[in-house]
Formats: sequence, C-alpha cells, structure tokens
Amino acid sequence: MIKIAKFGGSSVASAEQFRKVKEIVEADSDRRFVVVSAAGKRFDGDNKITDLLLLVNAHVQYHVDCTGLLADIEQRFLDIASELGLKWPVHEKFEIFAKNIKKHSPEYIVARGEWFTAHLMAEYLGMPFVDAADVMVFHHNGEVDMERTASRLKDVMVRQGSFVLPGFYGATVDGQIKLFQRGGGDITGAILARCIDAGLYENWTDVSGFLSADPRIVDHPRSIRRITFDEMRELSYMGASVLQEEAIFPVREVNIPIQIKNTNRPQDEGTIIREKARIGEDEHLITGIAGKKDFISVHVKKAHMSGEVGFVRRALSVFERYGISVEHIPTGVDSFSVVVNGADVRDSIYSIVTDIRRELEPDDITMVDKLALLSVVGRNMSKRSGTSGKIFGALGEAGINIRMITQSSQEISIIMGVNNDDFERAVQVIYDRFVRDEMVTAS
Ligand code: ASP
Repeated sequence: MIKIAKFGGSSVASAEQFRKVKEIVEADSDRRFVVVSAAGKRFDGDNKITDLLLLVNAHVQYHVDCTGLLADIEQRFLDIASELGLKWPVHEKFEIFAKNIKKHSPEYIVARGEWFTAHLMAEYLGMPFVDAADVMVFHHNGEVDMERTASRLKDVMVRQGSFVLPGFYGATVDGQIKLFQRGGGDITGAILARCIDAGLYENWTDVSGFLSADPRIVDHPRSIRRITFDEMRELSYMGASVLQEEAIFPVREVNIPIQIKNTNRPQDEGTIIREKARIGEDEHLITGIAGKKDFISVHVKKAHMSGEVGFVRRALSVFERYGISVEHIPTGVDSFSVVVNGADVRDSIYSIVTDIRRELEPDDITMVDKLALLSVVGRNMSKRSGTSGKIFGALGEAGINIRMITQSSQEISIIMGVNNDDFERAVQVIYDRFVRDEMVTAS
C-alpha cells in the first residue's frame, strides 16, 4: 500500500522535529512519498516561516529594507542544516533568493518556506526532492489542473520511487507560482494521495487527532478514533478543526481514508476519517460535540404564511442582498427563524430587519442575539430512537433553556441554540451524560 505522509509546520520546525519525522518515515516502508509544510513555530510565541515571508512581501511592497528579516529566516534553515549535518547549500541558495527579492512575485517569495524545508528534508531522508512547481499544475484562475497534475505526479512517482514534495504551492504551465490558501499543505497531500492512488493519507500534526469535545471546556475529553467525513464536516464547521477543510474533497471523492497522527506522540492511534464506518466499530452514540458562540436569530411570524408562495425565499433574498450567509432556517407553520453569524451582520442587522418588515409585512419580527449553537454529532444517533429527547431532557434538568433546535438531514447531528452564557455548561452536561457515562459503563 502507498501511504502519503504529510508533515505540518510544527512537525518540521527544528532539527529535533526533523529527527522525529525521519524515525516515523523509516518505521514503515509504505511511507515513500512525503509532503512538508514550511518550518512552523518551535515554541509558543515563535514565528512560522510562512508568516515571516509574508512580512518580507510587505517590506518589499513598501520599499522597506528587510535584510535583517531575511537573515532571521535564513538562520532557521542554517540551524536545521548544521544540527543535522546536512550538505545542501542553504547559504548559497538563500543568497540568490535574497539578492533577487524585488524581482520575485509575492507567491514565489511565500512558497520558498516549503521549498527550503523540503530540500533539507529530502537530503535528511535520503529521498529525491521534487519541486511542486513542476508537478502541481494550476490554471491561471488559481484552480488546480487535476489532469495535468495527475499525469505529472504519476510520472515522477514511477521515475523516482520515493520523494519529498513541498506543500502549499504549485505553478501554472508557464511557470507562475500559485499558492493554496493558508494551511494548504494539507491540500497538496490530499491531491498527491488521489493522483497516485494511495491507500492512506497520513496527516502528521501536533495533536493526536480529533477530540470529542473542546478540552478547554471538558476535562480530558475522549479522543475520536474513527469518524466519517460527514461527521467531521459537521464538527469542523462548528469549530473543532484539525484539518484544512479543502483537503478533504480530493481524497473523499475516491474513498481514500485520512489518518490524523501526532508527530510528537506517534504511538497514539490518532483519528481515522473514512467515508463509512465499518460495522461493529466504535458504536458510540455520540462522536463529538462542538459549537460556537455569537449567533443571531431573526424570527419572522405571519399568519397563513405557509400558504403564501415565496415568503421564505423573499426573506432570504434580503439576507442575500446584504451578502450574508445563512446558517440555519428552523421553520414552524406560520413562522420561521433565520440564524446568522453575529459578526457577519454587525453593521447590517438593523437594515435587514427594516427591509424584511417593509417588504414582507410580517405580523411580528423579533431578534435573539448572543446565541450559541451547539452541535451534537454522531452517525449512530439515527439508529437509536429517543436520543434527541434525552439530550433535551438533560439540558432541561440542568436548567438550560434551549432556544432553537434543528437536525441535519441525514440525522447525524442535532443542533441547538442556547444563550452564550449557558454554552460551556451545556457542552459539559451533554458530555457527562452521554460520553462520560458511556465510558464508565463500557469500562
Ligand atoms: N506554510 C503554509 C501556512 O503556514 C501552508 C501550510 O502550513 O500547510 O499556511
């Protein structure tokens, strides 16, 4: 089986981290294709190389001297090379880069973070370096040309047998460097996995996978060993993010599982993300709980609204006009609510309400702010009846008022709105009742 091993910025931040990577790669002969991010933070308060390079861009743009900044960046690579006894000519290459700094495009400059890191890693692992600019082909509009990319990647795979590929960037056919969004090394890894038909996409980072709840709210939450792509989307959307979202699609479409692993604790199992869980695996009722604060719900009421064609659409078109993305639309017979992110409507909410009042002439329109949304996610919830009732009951017993309820269409999540102030306690109540209790019963 081919495994793609992608190492994030913190996994390649220093010589010490490089050593861990080598141990991991050498522990499994299936790990022959390695993707790296640019060296990240070595400690709290440290700088990521990518951030420093963005700063270089700003200096160049405003014609401010950045010799000192460039020297700091070079030093990071020199340190890694000298500590590991690497021969790749960091100083020479950096000098050429720095000398021409004004001639380079901003994308080229930022992409040097992964380029230097990957060169060093390639030598250290004894694998060939493959430049992403030669294999990750972008259209001019910034989208990846999957056909060309797949054919080039397959080609180097066969020719080289193993390699280290810098993440985060690629180039158009005429050589213009293009970047993925921030954190985009994950996307490179996913595209590589897809293009060379890998059996597994390993994403090595600094956490041991997904946790079933935010550890700042719940003490030592259970780790999630297995999760489906749908469940993960629900949890990530609600703030429990480990992986760059865009990285999911390339592998998901062809059914390649992703395994999140911790470079600092390789012995931990991590989380495996697959399209479907296998039968009998982890029959937990709840996979995870996540949520976010500061939503606003606009409640619109009109008698006989259910018979009026286009009523909800007209209300939504008001939000659309203001460029506001809608999170949820719980509906009743003669009323509905539109839930939006508070920060998005900070400047426009009163105009939106005024427009709805004028254009739709509702009987009543009210607003609830400081609303937190809490998403309880579990692929097994749909199989067991009464789950939502039990969740609402537990919150009721704890004196927590539920202000809104919706369920995702595949029944893998139940989303509740509670007051911002009740948010942490609501997470704890649900966790204790459904996850901790299950752990106690199982042990
Ligand atoms: N180095 C890039 C960033 O910091 C991409 C990545 O880390 O995956 O955003």
